[in-house]
Amino acid sequence: FEPWNDPNEKPLIQFRGVTKRFGDFTAIDNQTFDIFEREFFALLGPSGCGKTTMMRMLAGFETPTEGTILLAGQDIAPIPPNKRAVNMMFQSYALFPHLSVWDNIAFGLKRDGMARDAIGDRVAEMLKLTRLEKFARRKPHQISGGQRQRVALARSLAKAPKLLLLDEPLGALDAKLRQDTQFELMDIQEKTGTTFVIVTHDQEEAMTVASRVAVMDHGQIIQADTPARIYETPNSVYVADFIGDVTIIEGTATRDGAGYRIDFAEGQPALYAETDIALTDGQRAYLAIRPEKVSITAEKPEDKRNALRGKILDIAYLGNLSTYHVELPKGQIVRAQTANTRRLSRRSFTWEDEVWLSWTDTAAVLLER
Ligand code: ATP
Repeated sequence: FEPWNDPNEKPLIQFRGVTKRFGDFTAIDNQTFDIFEREFFALLGPSGCGKTTMMRMLAGFETPTEGTILLAGQDIAPIPPNKRAVNMMFQSYALFPHLSVWDNIAFGLKRDGMARDAIGDRVAEMLKLTRLEKFARRKPHQISGGQRQRVALARSLAKAPKLLLLDEPLGALDAKLRQDTQFELMDIQEKTGTTFVIVTHDQEEAMTVASRVAVMDHGQIIQADTPARIYETPNSVYVADFIGDVTIIEGTATRDGAGYRIDFAEGQPALYAETDIALTDGQRAYLAIRPEKVSITAEKPEDKRNALRGKILDIAYLGNLSTYHVELPKGQIVRAQTANTRRLSRRSFTWEDEVWLSWTDTAAVLLER
């Protein structure tokens, strides 16, 4: 895997033991982590896990109950929201309907008393960055939803904040436009070099745009890592399950050579996995396996230790891929995914087929909880 940051990367944001309570409810639970300069950082998690609270503390709309947040090495607690080098773009965009695109982007600069020529230059730069030059004189109701989104972005970036907070920035766009806009957002982030922190409940969106994704649960970041590492080496069943499709097989671990043997059901063959974690013999463990790592064959594979017999319950045809739900004799369901190349489609499987599922020792991730 590529490292997600080079060692010269400087932290822009530092959370140090940050807790936020509302009454006796803990919304953010003792969090210590860094967000680096030029990073595109995504906060991802189910509703109520604390994503928005994290953002609102950065913006200055909430203050931590305990702990400190540093911005470029400075405690931000005493700095009011409008004096922080932080801007927040809301899902509603909050554009001024009676002002032109140009005036919307210029608004904050004028309020700050920037010189007229400098405002002109800065607005022109922002219009170019967001490809809105042609729409400068239009009002928000005279442009499309995607263009309005870009105006909001241009306006948020006009004052060159060090940190831009994006709260579900693409939530109002339809699926196709949303995808195009994700790439545009990545492009703009890269061009400006501004640190972006995005809040989203859409895991695909987080995995697409972000250089690092923080998966949250109940006020805690469970894992913060590159999309590839979050997917390939989740640190917990929670993360494995939250991101992408996965089968979790619970069993008992016993040391076996470089890895572990997992016994998961009476009369079923043991499974094998290599791992860095240390388990004691007899400990409960969870094997997480991605569907595309599971081979599905009619005959028992000769070369693999992890091989299970099962029956096809469901098939989802996805064009380029098919996903199979295969039931093991004791009722567990394993998901397997195959690419629909022409060769495969000639001899594909159907409902009720008895098949063999198999994978290599390194394909599965062994987890403690
Ligand atoms: P969503 O995806 O639904 O927006 P979220 O992850 O952004 O969720 P938060 O808005 O950060 O979640 O809220 C985290 C928890 O804190 C929730 O249980 C919420 O009810 C609670 N909470 C947030 N703000 C307040 C408040 N001002 N007073 C009391 N409780 C609050």
